[in-house]
Amino acid sequence: MPERRAGAGRYAPSPSGDLHLGNLRTALLAWLFARTTGRDFLMRIEDLDRARDAGSAEHQLTDLTRLGIDWDGPVILQSDCAAAHEAAIAQLAAADLVYECTCTRKDILAAPSAPHAPPGAYPGTCRNRTAAERAAARLAIAPRLPALRLRAPAAVNTGGFTDLVLGETRGDIDDFVLRRGDGTIAYNLAVVVDDAEMGIDQVVRGDDLASSTPRQILLQRLLGLPTPPTVQYAHVPLVLGPTGARLAKRDGAVTLSDLAAGGMDTAAVRALLAQSLGLAAPGEAVTLQQLMARFDPAHLPREPWTWQAS
Ligand code: GLU
Repeated sequence: MPERRAGAGRYAPSPSGDLHLGNLRTALLAWLFARTTGRDFLMRIEDLDRARDAGSAEHQLTDLTRLGIDWDGPVILQSDCAAAHEAAIAQLAAADLVYECTCTRKDILAAPSAPHAPPGAYPGTCRNRTAAERAAARLAIAPRLPALRLRAPAAVNTGGFTDLVLGETRGDIDDFVLRRGDGTIAYNLAVVVDDAEMGIDQVVRGDDLASSTPRQILLQRLLGLPTPPTVQYAHVPLVLGPTGARLAKRDGAVTLSDLAAGGMDTAAVRALLAQSLGLAAPGEAVTLQQLMARFDPAHLPREPWTWQAS
């Protein structure tokens, strides 16, 4: 009997320039997790932040293809999903789980923090305004518009989940932003709605996002969307640059084009990424099919990989 297809994994790059080795390594892992578990693999461009250069998405997809990464169905643009994002906010608002916030970053820093609140949590300044106070606050910040925040239920303020790589993982939940004052939908809301719309049940991404996951799980529950254990999470170690900080483009030749210009072709980059994951011997040429046969999440390196340009 053919293996039943179980849900889908995805890669969801933000179109902010070419993908670097860290992004490519995460994409390769997301592909391996999905393909070795009989899942579809879907591609979504997270282009909600208008400050980003949407033109770079095409280049990113070309680089993924050159590496051998393929995906099922059309590429989804997050900016095409606005109706679903707004519907989710309306659903939360109907349950009195949304409020307007007129605070600036400076207001938030200046406000005394609420007792027992996690560090950096929103202090709740705008949480309990009357209709009249709300109208006055709106007027006071015009022409700026208020942001929308989640009225996070107190009972769920310590979120934990079991990550396939990190194990038991926790993250603080506060009244986080759902829609910014400029109308942009916040990442945490968009990612939850889009993953559900796309039938994603396996989220593989960099471990810098692990602490956001409890917020996303809370939204899944409040919206009645699939949530763990139906949805599984794997937060994979990042690639670090020579200074020990997260790899960035300022670290030099870190994209496929840069590396090619320095004499390292795509096959060599694939070999290097495979080696960094313990899936190939140094310098061994590999195909993605070979990597699939060798991939075992239990043996995934738990430490970040430091990239040193030679
Ligand atoms: N767009 C995010 C990034 O490029 C990834 C979001 C996610 O995978 O949930 O870092």
